[in-house]
Amino acid sequence: MKVFVLRLGHRPLRDKRITTHVALTARAFGASGFVLAEVHDEGVVRSVRKVCNTWGGSNFKVLTGVEPVSYINEWKNEGGLVIHLTMYGLHVDDLINTLKSINKDLLIVVGAEKVPPVIYELANYNVAIGHQPHSEVSALAVFLDRLFSGRELHFIYSDAKISVVPTEKGKKVIRHD
Ligand code: SAM
Repeated sequence: MKVFVLRLGHRPLRDKRITTHVALTARAFGASGFVLAEVHDEGVVRSVRKVCNTWGGSNFKVLTGVEPVSYINEWKNEGGLVIHLTMYGLHVDDLINTLKSINKDLLIVVGAEKVPPVIYELANYNVAIGHQPHSEVSALAVFLDRLFSGRELHFIYSDAKISVVPTEKGKKVIRHD
């Protein structure tokens, strides 16, 4: 099952950091690609590539400047499902078992300020991570963690140049080159 994350509404001047965090969360929580709608932002791409280069994931896909409605339609035409994360959707607890059992490629859509109504219509599922407003980063992390039942936190990238040795205090890493 392929899982990609589509980030809508990125405003380069305001959202560089949070959009980078959406992409890094996608990568660290088990997705295999990140798609930035409408805009090209070299700063975001560079930051994600830098992390992949050091911590592994050179085959993590990053696409930018993508027209979201066509991308969503194409995803669905190819047999995938589209899941839009929004506080207005159905509670994740009521859907997660269905979504885990479907076994189709998943496109997880997260917004910024205001998501256009067409996205709510096109999504196969509008899913709420609780019904309080919080953030695209927290919503994505909780959703992926539920989807993968926590297994993604133990994943090790085989192409990592560096990895953490867990320690009680301080920082310990090993280099693989
Ligand atoms: N009112 C917005 C909404 O529809 O969820 C909150 C906007 S929030 C700044 C930006 C994005 O975070 C939203 O587009 C959504 O993808 C995600 N988000 C925030 N709270 C959420 C929640 N409780 N459940 C699911 N997604 C959430």
